[in-house]
Amino acid sequence: MFYRESWVEVDLDQIKENIRWLRRQTNRQFIAVIKANGYGAGDGPVARAALEAGAAMLAVSSLDEALSLRYQGITAPVLILGVVDPSQAELLLRYDLAVPAVSLDWVKELVQVPVRGLRVHLKVDTGMHRIGTGNLDELRAMLTLLQENGAAVEGIFTHFACSDNPDNGMTDDQAARFEHLVQALDTPFRWVHSSNSDAAVHYPKAPGNAVRCGLAMFGVTSYATALKPCVSLYSRLVYVKALPAGQPVGYGATYTTQKEEWIGTLPIGYADGWIRKHQGRQCWIEGETGDFVGRICMDQAMIRLPHAFPVGTKVELFGPHLPLEQVARELGTIPYEVLTLLSDRLAKVYI
Ligand code: PLP
Repeated sequence: MFYRESWVEVDLDQIKENIRWLRRQTNRQFIAVIKANGYGAGDGPVARAALEAGAAMLAVSSLDEALSLRYQGITAPVLILGVVDPSQAELLLRYDLAVPAVSLDWVKELVQVPVRGLRVHLKVDTGMHRIGTGNLDELRAMLTLLQENGAAVEGIFTHFACSDNPDNGMTDDQAARFEHLVQALDTPFRWVHSSNSDAAVHYPKAPGNAVRCGLAMFGVTSYATALKPCVSLYSRLVYVKALPAGQPVGYGATYTTQKEEWIGTLPIGYADGWIRKHQGRQCWIEGETGDFVGRICMDQAMIRLPHAFPVGTKVELFGPHLPLEQVARELGTIPYEVLTLLSDRLAKVYI
């Protein structure tokens, strides 16, 4: 139940369809990346949908995000993708969470406490230089030390920096480096994974027996696919008025009506993730467009309407008529950012 009429609509059946399509397409095990509260769509519901569609594992960015899944009763395998403080080994074991081993120093610190049975994936840096190591000797030493201490080294993975660009040879370089290191380690890893969404759909030769997809589950990739979008953002007019020409609208009076205009107010603002940069952009309203005029406020935003609409009229901020990709492009950003900026204050409606 919610009373403030701005909401994120998530089509869980379509998420499942998209995952099934990705599984067929890649023919690999599917790791559903549901970090950042499931890309703004709600970690628990998206995780459950992913598992129903055959995901073999969930991946999140932090220990906190992993615990959020466990607290919601999700018992499936969970891999944390970011660096976890090695002193948290006991918590990781208690909640059966897998972590990346990112360096020999990290492993040395980890094994100061009991780690028997702790699930670990070696994180290989093949060129992105974010976390992990690409040094074979270091990887060997990490593996040995983990095994000596009884950790369950069940996986190895890397991350592509340029999989959104088919012309960038870096993906080939990273894939080759990863393959070489995996072979040299000569260990029967249960999970070997390198592809994110874009690599999963356009780079079938990526090494590994699993793919790690986030955005593609929501129907968005840099490549044309059969995937369908399944997250939309809606609001409703809570106030509508006609203003004569020459009237300012909003903080800073940055907009002035040119003629008699219909101005509507939506209960959504930058505290919901609908940032001030949306000023000047458009929204979709019953087959017509409204323009965000005046500054976006913390909790409200004003739109110029083509004519009077009744209070309560539904307005699409992105969705079937106004694709997320277009909104991101117009903002000069990427769909990931638009989605993950959506704040918890927005209600979520699952259809
Ligand atoms: N793997 C890692 C290590 C990531 O950081 C991310 C997200 O940024 C993903 C996989 C999923 O990426 P995508 O949403 O492009 O599939």
